[in-house]
Amino acid sequence: MAVPGDWKSLWKIHTPPKAKYLLWRICRECLPTRARLQERHVNCPEVCPVCELEIEHDWHFLFACNDNMHAWTAAGLDAVVLPRLQQFSTVKGVIMDVCSKEDRDVAGRMALLVWSLWNNRNNCVWNIIKEAGQQIGIKSECMWREWQAVADSAQCRFRARYNNAAIV
Ligand SMILES: [Zn+2]
Repeated sequence: MAVPGDWKSLWKIHTPPKAKYLLWRICRECLPTRARLQERHVNCPEVCPVCELEIEHDWHFLFACNDNMHAWTAAGLDAVVLPRLQQFSTVKGVIMDVCSKEDRDVAGRMALLVWSLWNNRNNCVWNIIKEAGQQIGIKSECMWREWQAVADSAQCRFRARYNNAAIV
């Protein structure tokens, strides 16, 4: 079934595939937050495993959980996201707007941060290990830069090979 949305700009962002895929799942309303699991009659607590204060639904996890908000700031992405929280009422609205209007690198950094937050959330649930939001934001930025350096050098090698082939 075709779901409306600017999926092309989502797939074009600069980020590891795992982060792109997670963003896509979120926009398709497939993220298994506790609120969603309960809707599907899964017997689980509804409280957010990160802050343990509010119900865990998409918007809370991404844009309202106090712990996670520190991560947005530490990653330097708060200016990208915060103004959009006034403009849009769904997570898909915010994510799609960032992917279609911001630089592909900025959108890519956002995607990897979301992936890092979800990873931390799963560690809270399954391993009872929780990292501070600030730490997650800093680590996610480092991870993105490392990924970019590798992706750039791979592209350089590809171009060099292509150019050589063209000369021959
Ligand atoms: Zn929370």
